Amino acid sequence: KTVPNDLSAFWMPFTANRQFKKAPRMFVSADGMFYKAADGREVLDGTAGLWCCNAGHNRPKIVEAIRAQAGELDYAPAFQMGHPKAFELATALRDMAPEGMDHVFFTNSGSESVETALKIAIAYHRARGEGARTRLIGRERGYHGVNFGGISVGGIVTNRKVFGSLLTGVDHLPHTHLPGENSFTKGQPEHGAHLADELERIVALHGAETIAAVIVEPMAGSTGVLLPPKGYLERLRAICTKHGILLIFDEVITGFGRLGSSFAAEHFGVMPDLMTTAKGLTNGVIPMGAVLATGAIHDAFMQGPEHMIELFHGYTYSGNPMASAAGLATLETYREEGLFARAAEMAPYWQEALHSLKDARHVIDIRNMGLIGAVELEPIAGEPTKRAFQAFLDAYEKGILIRTTGDIIAMSPPLIIEKAHVDQLIGTLRDVLEALD
Ligand code: PMP
Repeated sequence: KTVPNDLSAFWMPFTANRQFKKAPRMFVSADGMFYKAADGREVLDGTAGLWCCNAGHNRPKIVEAIRAQAGELDYAPAFQMGHPKAFELATALRDMAPEGMDHVFFTNSGSESVETALKIAIAYHRARGEGARTRLIGRERGYHGVNFGGISVGGIVTNRKVFGSLLTGVDHLPHTHLPGENSFTKGQPEHGAHLADELERIVALHGAETIAAVIVEPMAGSTGVLLPPKGYLERLRAICTKHGILLIFDEVITGFGRLGSSFAAEHFGVMPDLMTTAKGLTNGVIPMGAVLATGAIHDAFMQGPEHMIELFHGYTYSGNPMASAAGLATLETYREEGLFARAAEMAPYWQEALHSLKDARHVIDIRNMGLIGAVELEPIAGEPTKRAFQAFLDAYEKGILIRTTGDIIAMSPPLIIEKAHVDQLIGTLRDVLEALD
């Protein structure tokens, strides 16, 4: 079976992604650390798909679990009926989550997890007689998916400005990136914990009694790998606690081993009240997300007073059998192969390899943590994003998959990565940068 590399023959306008339209490329199969492209070349996956295939590609255990489930129970009505795999997965997730995060709401994506968590936060306060707490606080350069709640609390202005009416009553904290002061820092930046204090200013402006929740990615991924300065998350937690505001960690990227522990909450030792997950939950294979909550929050949402009995929440595909089977096999794979610990063990090698690019052409900053990293390039004057996008194209031609956002190259390889793959990824990227205009 051959697939033509010239895609103009079967163009389908199914994506709004302009980068794909500029230079269409197709993958036709994958195995472990590698994709196979339509022209037959192997491409080393430096991004775990889209930060999701944490266990690598086409893992037999996961493939087999999906096959077996498809032949056994394809679907069960989500609200009236249960099925064993959803409960097994919820239990496995609880066992993997930080202590106390022991209730699970299933969704079908990161975006849906965010909407669900925002709703839970507001409903929680209402159930406790604090119905005025409806304000939500996000962060500049935060990414929380593409639905209305997510883009409202999200900090990407271009994603918001097209839509006239978003959620009202939303404020944004400053982002956590202080260039200069933290440039080329290995791991967590030293400076910037005070940026969390901006929350006090917002509280003073509106009154704590109006604020439901703060939502942040513990480490912002999609907008360029912006790491929380030391002490920042602790301060955010303390201010939220002081004012009765819920803290939501959007762990869609940071969950499932990316930082070398199950979740960022564990990695940083800071407990949120709610956590959103997706991506690595099913190794990116079948769409699925989950919101994790403490028992108190779950109970307020699900068993609130009379005026909330009518509240309905859930999706047709919440915890569906196929996704649950994929999720269970994925979590088993992570556990059996010790992939989170493996990510932690590989992290120092990753860090040193990444920072060896310090002197490569155009590089103005490097950031890293766990098995995630960013290489920021000097933009071409008047043509932002052009240089990094060219790097992406050249890298692909040389057999590595990287991701770019603005003039930042982001990498997040599958957690099964070997040192030789790290060398290939970073060595090829160096060659690409050196040859770049
Ligand atoms: N939150 C975060 C932190 C994300 O990184 C993403 C996806 N990159 C989302 C939410 C949205 O997830 P999805 O694309 O599955 O809707």
